[in-house]
Amino acid sequence: MTAASLIENHRASATLVGLLEGNGRFVAGEPRFKRDITAAREAAPNQHPSAAVFTCIDSRVTAESVFDCDFGQLLVVRTAGHVPDRAAVGSLEFAAAELGISLVVVLGHERCGAIGAALSAVESDTHDPRSDYLVEQLWQPASQALSEIESEPDAASHAMRLQVRRTVADLDRRSSLEGVLVVGAVYDLDTGAVSLVEQN
Ligand SMILES: [Zn+2]
Repeated sequence: MTAASLIENHRASATLVGLLEGNGRFVAGEPRFKRDITAAREAAPNQHPSAAVFTCIDSRVTAESVFDCDFGQLLVVRTAGHVPDRAAVGSLEFAAAELGISLVVVLGHERCGAIGAALSAVESDTHDPRSDYLVEQLWQPASQALSEIESEPDAASHAMRLQVRRTVADLDRRSSLEGVLVVGAVYDLDTGAVSLVEQN
């Protein structure tokens, strides 16, 4: 590891610790940032995000609140089931190249509708034209989860974690994101807590 990459890695680790501390404030009901119009105006001239969160479109998962970040601190990319399609990956590449982020957190969540749709499709071996693209993208983790765990909701939780790991692995092997630390995490809808997912 070169000195430059060591420093970069240290910066990413410190950023991750900062996000997890923000989540601690969120869970404790003691957020530091109000994100009101005054904060928006103060942040308006420029932005200095240090991290990106790649998460699901779910309306209950609001990354800026979950990590207690202010305007201009966090770049958020969202697709249903955090499927790393071209636009999402291109956005993260842009964030790394142009905005200098050192960290990407892939954030899954419990009771994910996209994962649930994929599980139903695998179980019944049918496709719904309204969600065909997503089902296709999420078929592998859904079918693997069902082959390893039969009962719901455990299978859904397992499939979601598999999809977090797949997304992390996908981003990790891209040379365009070289030097960016990519970690997986899960958001608990009930407690508000974020926990890291080992890549194993
Ligand atoms: Zn979801």
